[in-house]
Amino acid sequence: MQVVRKATSRSPTVTFWGAAQAVTGSMHMVEWADERFLLDCGLVMGWGSEAQLRNRFFPFAPASISAVLLSHAHVDHCGNLPNLVRQGFTGPILCTPATRDLLGIMLADSARIHENEAHVADVIACPEEFTERPLFTGKDVRRTIEQCVTIPYDEPHEFAPGVMVRFVDAGHLLGSAMIALRFNGPGKERRLTFTGDLGRPSLGFLRPPAPMPPADLILCESTYGGRLHQSLEELSAKLKQVVALTFDRNGKVLIPAFSLGRTQIVVHYLRRWMAEGKIPHVPIYIDSPLAAAISEVHDRYPECLQAPSSEFLRIPLRNDPSRSGIRKNSDSPIHFIRDRREARDISVRREACILVASGGMCEAGRIINHFEHNLDDPRNSVVLVSYQAPGSLGRKLLERGPTVTFRGRRWNKWADVVDLNGFSGHADQGDLLRFFEPLKGSAPRVRLVHGDLQHAEALAESLRIRGFTDLEIPRREDTVTLA
Ligand SMILES: [Zn+2]
Repeated sequence: MQVVRKATSRSPTVTFWGAAQAVTGSMHMVEWADERFLLDCGLVMGWGSEAQLRNRFFPFAPASISAVLLSHAHVDHCGNLPNLVRQGFTGPILCTPATRDLLGIMLADSARIHENEAHVADVIACPEEFTERPLFTGKDVRRTIEQCVTIPYDEPHEFAPGVMVRFVDAGHLLGSAMIALRFNGPGKERRLTFTGDLGRPSLGFLRPPAPMPPADLILCESTYGGRLHQSLEELSAKLKQVVALTFDRNGKVLIPAFSLGRTQIVVHYLRRWMAEGKIPHVPIYIDSPLAAAISEVHDRYPECLQAPSSEFLRIPLRNDPSRSGIRKNSDSPIHFIRDRREARDISVRREACILVASGGMCEAGRIINHFEHNLDDPRNSVVLVSYQAPGSLGRKLLERGPTVTFRGRRWNKWADVVDLNGFSGHADQGDLLRFFEPLKGSAPRVRLVHGDLQHAEALAESLRIRGFTDLEIPRREDTVTLA
């Protein structure tokens, strides 16, 4: 482990510790005067020992960090905060109110998973030392939430002597923010903007992202550099076709979706297109307690959603929460499932319906239970609404071949499988270039983060053509100083 000593820096300096030429583990350290703080503290995703070691050991002393500024509640941006707290970080975690609420739900769920994994490793006596203890526990999560200090959008806040932060709506996830910093040093003010993840202005679910705050240095995400998303018109036309065909067969449409963000967007559009007559009215079942809790947080922040979004997402959440099992509303075709037995009944029942379940890449989550009962039925369809990583069950469903293997046996792949990977909450190449358009004249330094090298380079090439010539794609441990 490399431990970086706390340094005194006259000019703000950024060190890239994660999401550098990669898309996970977002974490950048800013040093100025006697202050050292982090932009994000995300988990490196993956099962390899390198990911585990990077998550477990920080390249600096956590107690030396004076504050964390958090862009949003996706785990690749916030998921290692409880470990930072566990290892001695006692400062404030600054974020928007909605991010704090989502953080409590997401980190508690992660702690439960880490504790279960550690228990299993203990039982099978896994020899590697880093699997002996959970990365963090529920107790660490509670302390993390206690350290959160919430700051609404667009309210400047001085969190360290001479350093102001302002959160600007990034339109990527409920509560997501670009982080605009001002350093008031002797004789010169310097500005830094960290975009976090940027949303899609055209998605029409959350409020559209605000303009990117001008700065001397911009750290910008590049996840979808060089790529364009399917339009909403294409998505609705394709979905309409799949739903109509499946219902003609009296089948089910199974949609695996991540509980945070993707489920809410997909449900919003399903209901909206039903209301507009674009797809038939059928029951929508949502099998994910996590998604239900997250949807309730959306209900608390209607001002963060575009007007029709709040309407389509909120109606079912006003139901009587004391009812166990399915929560129903006569005006709404949405039913939140909270009970496994109820989920099984719906899974085996012959009924035309849409079933949204946790498990974006189909590797884990409740969608697997529904595959067991429905994947080998040619009346049904599986609609994949997220990126499917190579090797994942979702990717294998898309590949040619009559069967897939999960839960220790081979299953016939007789349901239709459709790829609708256009619901992304990330800005695409066109959106990213439009964010930079108003900043052309100011010639900021730009560092592209949070993107695989190929995609970051595609964005970099287009930005250089547009005059952003002080532009690099930093590697992990690289630094940049604001002159
Ligand atoms: Zn994100």
